[in-house]
Amino acid sequence: MDRFIESLPKTETHLHIEGAIPWELFELRFPGEFPKVPEFRMPDFRYDDFQQFEKILISHALRVIKCPDDYAEVAKMLFAKQLSQNISYVELSFHAGMIEFLKIRGEDIIQAIRSVVPDGLDVRIFMGMSRDSYTSFLGPLLEEAVENWEGLYGIDLHGPEDLPTKDWMPRLWSIAHANGRILKAHAGEFGSAQNVKWAVEKLGVKRIQHGIHASSDETVLDLLAEKGVVLDLCPISNYKLRVFDNWDDYPIRKFLKKGIRFTISTDDPFSFGNCLNDEYKYLVRYMDFSASEIAEIAKTGFDTADLQDYQKKESMNQIDHLLSLEEGNRL
Ligand SMILES: [Zn+2]
Repeated sequence: MDRFIESLPKTETHLHIEGAIPWELFELRFPGEFPKVPEFRMPDFRYDDFQQFEKILISHALRVIKCPDDYAEVAKMLFAKQLSQNISYVELSFHAGMIEFLKIRGEDIIQAIRSVVPDGLDVRIFMGMSRDSYTSFLGPLLEEAVENWEGLYGIDLHGPEDLPTKDWMPRLWSIAHANGRILKAHAGEFGSAQNVKWAVEKLGVKRIQHGIHASSDETVLDLLAEKGVVLDLCPISNYKLRVFDNWDDYPIRKFLKKGIRFTISTDDPFSFGNCLNDEYKYLVRYMDFSASEIAEIAKTGFDTADLQDYQKKESMNQIDHLLSLEEGNRL
């Protein structure tokens, strides 16, 4: 099964670049300063809370990322790792707050990432922002971004869900939509099913990042199924951040039963020490997923992807072919 997972063509559609700095880059840039495997990257490690996670991530990310060229260096290493796992389509976000903090241009971040996309990988770039990102500095830039920035594929709502929602959010999401950008929002990770409902109804998103707590409200689950919303799930992130207690509590089978579509991603592989193959392997190990269920998730990724029909078909046919070989081996 491990080999089957590794060989499958895959997509990754929930990934934060500041949380995806390869550990090797720290070893390369700061020889001898960092351990081979820090405690927080060990498989059994779980964070005490979101604050601890944020603190570790931000303090490390700011050591490496200071200018657009650093984004390019991180992206280049990250993309090589993705290709080696047979990932051929990626949706990646950078955090808008970095524009204000580092005083760099958002368009330059996008350009830097785009400049290192290798052959064989299609990359779509999102800008993420928190509920408190609309500052006097950043607000006008966010408006300009959704109207005019070339190469900005979409926007995403990041950060703590307990901050109040503000009027600028539905407005900005609607301008982004009118300009052909794809809309996402993190919701139902630490927040309630009502946050998921709000994101779908008020922001108009068809892509929810996480959405785990939608599982506590049947009417919200019905809404997701009815509107064809896709959840970009990150099981290992949710486990390590204690979004749920035990794997038995992870509601992925509930989503499956309700006909809700979902994909699988790593979220912040720097913080969790995970890779996409691990995510799939965990579904097999802890939730008893079959080869055909695994194949279905990979196919949903391509179905959701912004690719030409022939590209989608090619990948899906390859998945079907690998599945038939895997099932043949099991007979
Ligand atoms: Zn995320």
